[in-house]
Amino acid sequence: MLSAGEIGLRFHEDRWIVDEVSNQSTGYCPDPASWPAVATALERAGLDHLGRFTHEFVFRRCPACGEVSIVREDDFVCVFCDADLPTAWNVDPTDT
Ligand SMILES: [Zn+2]
Repeated sequence: MLSAGEIGLRFHEDRWIVDEVSNQSTGYCPDPASWPAVATALERAGLDHLGRFTHEFVFRRCPACGEVSIVREDDFVCVFCDADLPTAWNVDPTDT
């Protein structure tokens, strides 16, 4: 599984550690469940991390209008048209 997002690094004592990592990526809109792919990449780069995203964004593509919404507080409703959103991640850029 691929992931994407933003990573903030901080130099602590004698090494770089991961200060912040989020899955906020407007291009790929990965699911928070993509964390293991991020962890693997960080470990490969020799970076310590916190074992999770520090900022998680839940993206869903609206089946009604096709827009990508960010789900807030587990409220699976499209911010554009109020349609119900699926609970399973469905944002796949290869579909667009
Ligand atoms: Zn919609």
